[in-house]
Amino acid sequence: MTILVLGGAGYIGSHTVYELIDAGEDVVIADNLQTGYMGAVHPKARFYKGDIRDEQFLDNLFNKEKIGAVIHFAANSLVGESMIDPLKYYDNNIYGTMVLLKSMVKNGIDKIVFSSTAATYGEPENTPILETDKTEPTNTYGETKLSMEKMFKWVSKVHGLRYVSLRYFNACGAHISGKIGEAHIPETHLIPLILQVPNGQREFIGIFGDDYNTPDGTCIRDYIHVTDLAQAHILAVKYLNDGHESNIFNLGNGVGFSVKEVIEVARKVTGHAIPARVSERRAGDPAVLIASSDKAKKILDWKPEHASLEEIIETAWNWHKNHPRGYSSK
Ligand code: UDP
Repeated sequence: MTILVLGGAGYIGSHTVYELIDAGEDVVIADNLQTGYMGAVHPKARFYKGDIRDEQFLDNLFNKEKIGAVIHFAANSLVGESMIDPLKYYDNNIYGTMVLLKSMVKNGIDKIVFSSTAATYGEPENTPILETDKTEPTNTYGETKLSMEKMFKWVSKVHGLRYVSLRYFNACGAHISGKIGEAHIPETHLIPLILQVPNGQREFIGIFGDDYNTPDGTCIRDYIHVTDLAQAHILAVKYLNDGHESNIFNLGNGVGFSVKEVIEVARKVTGHAIPARVSERRAGDPAVLIASSDKAKKILDWKPEHASLEEIIETAWNWHKNHPRGYSSK
């Protein structure tokens, strides 16, 4: 069976392709390279450059390749940007997924695993967060991902397609080989920004608010290694191939670290003092986001293997120090 990875040149997509190929799968990648990189494309995957909003492109792809399942990462994913240009998110994330589903239904492709997010929950009502908790996104990004989940739900009811939605918490770290890692322009995520300090690209890391209702006043997040996320996609494809019903799973470690704690671990890993300065809160940031991933562990048999924050930051540092300008440098 061939697996189509949409957005397979992006951060989580490329790591998933590496794991799929290691597991002996035949992989096709489609990516418009707007935020992905050819340098992240696994040499053993067949690559097609194109956009999921282009129905003809998808139809041709489904005609040419015998696709058994789709893994869908092709979306915009920056919370801040989604509050500056919301319609970009409606266009790429919602309209793109609509075109994709149209083409999948037309071509008889009936299994899809897709990246969703903790941002679908908004301000959590419980900690840790369960899949059944209320979903009230506080930004356009989370809203578009929730709409995508609902689109899958209704299309699956009518057309019999089955899906797994994976709600990621904070994806981080890099492939153990050091060949691929996180590369966003502009970078907005905490760990890569912290590592720009020991890399000589930034003088200090800004802490977005230290007056939250948490032990040290900074926001708490559940950081999950990108390779563990990648493994969950393989298990989700297997789950669908085994004939199970559509489902939604949280993916996190179930442990929270504050911004200050993350900086402290990065100081230890890099041996650099990493100066930090407190600045204003960032709009739309909940104080605490921690996942319950018991459902994924129980039903998918998912076992995160890189749960220590030290190990996560070590893999990230191994990537960033050797690729200070991402894929445009060695
Ligand atoms: N953060 C920060 N300084 C930065 C970037 C992020 O203090 O320069 C904080 C942010 O407010 C959040 C946490 O770090 O509490 C993780 O942010 P990130 O953007 O990495 O992921 P998010 O939680 O938004 O998905």
